Amino acid sequence: MQDTRFVGQHFNKFPFDADLTDYILTTLSDIHSLGNFIFSSRFVYDVFESRRISVLRAVVSNHLGPVAPQAMRLFKVMDDIKSYWHGWLAPVPVSKLPREDDLRNGLHITLREARILAANHDVIQQLEALYSWREKDPRSTSSQLTIKESERFQEAMYRVWFICAMYGRPAPANRVGKSKSKRLPEIMRELGQMQTKCLQSFEPSQLARLLEAWCFLSNLATWTIRAEFLPQKNVRSVHTYLVWSGPSTTLEAFQGKTNTVDRKVVPSMATSYEQFCEAFQLVTTPKHQDGVGILESPDESLWRSLRCQACSQIAPGDLWNQSNWSYLRGYLPPSQFFERLELPWWNTFTDADSLEKVCRSVPYPQLIGEVFSLRSKKYKHLEPGHWLCTDCLCKFLHDNLEAWCSSRKPQEQDDQS
Ligand SMILES: [Zn+2]
Repeated sequence: MQDTRFVGQHFNKFPFDADLTDYILTTLSDIHSLGNFIFSSRFVYDVFESRRISVLRAVVSNHLGPVAPQAMRLFKVMDDIKSYWHGWLAPVPVSKLPREDDLRNGLHITLREARILAANHDVIQQLEALYSWREKDPRSTSSQLTIKESERFQEAMYRVWFICAMYGRPAPANRVGKSKSKRLPEIMRELGQMQTKCLQSFEPSQLARLLEAWCFLSNLATWTIRAEFLPQKNVRSVHTYLVWSGPSTTLEAFQGKTNTVDRKVVPSMATSYEQFCEAFQLVTTPKHQDGVGILESPDESLWRSLRCQACSQIAPGDLWNQSNWSYLRGYLPPSQFFERLELPWWNTFTDADSLEKVCRSVPYPQLIGEVFSLRSKKYKHLEPGHWLCTDCLCKFLHDNLEAWCSSRKPQEQDDQS
């Protein structure tokens, strides 16, 4: 007969009893830690299994914080989109969708669903960090928003995502061919009305922040296209596609991950969905002044206190140092990089084509960092940490790029050998 005492002892190596373990589980701050913790020990896993609903509810709530209702609402429509989207191009009106208030007390969710919520929240947090970097503090790529600002940003971005998921989703690929259908104008008009109604379902005080989140997303899509991560065809359609596919697709494209872009859908997007970009403006603009934006004091954004080291100009959003050189790619795309610098020797430079390829494949921070390390005596007083406006940075690159081009040539040959 098996010695059950031994099995029990061996089984429970975890130093706490079930109640204390349950307490620890419910205080975990995020879903990723929960996943790691419950699979670390059979005993912990069994405790989790026996109290799954309450543990998941607590950890999801800890993870999402005050934006849990917005996150749950988005998840609910995305997870069961067929219930809310009848036929082709025909979502149900906003009055028939779950309301945020209904989801305030959480739902019964599975671990799989919690992981999807966590993945969505990762997207929102990465966008928040980008927003903070571009709008508040260009020195840091992690979010410098206050707790209040962070909450406002996340709430607005989840709502924009919700609108994209319900009323902006690209038509399924196999239906794109039908976009010449006679009924299309009628369907698009209906969809436009539904979208406007959805926007109008939010409090007027929330619309300024929705518009801000929307414009931010749209700017990221514009940047992505300018940065040439995608072929430069149908750029209007691509922009519409990115924005209306929602924050996750736009973020991935911004990061250069463009393999999720459904090229079968893109060509139809400009004609089918472009009109909707106006819906945000139409609904939100008249009430824009009433609401409070995302930042508590936009006038104190760090951008406003920075000056160009070379010409002393204050240029919010248009200053560069090593902390944001990576963003330059959407301002000065690889195909225009050398041309914009107006290098007098460029047309006669033998390796022009290969350098454009280098410019496309080497991250900008590395490229500009290398130019800095080869800068001439005249520029020794400038450091990579100094802020330069776009004009002064271009002048700096114009005057110092030749050394970099020459240095690159043997290195390229070395790379190939
Ligand atoms: Zn300057």
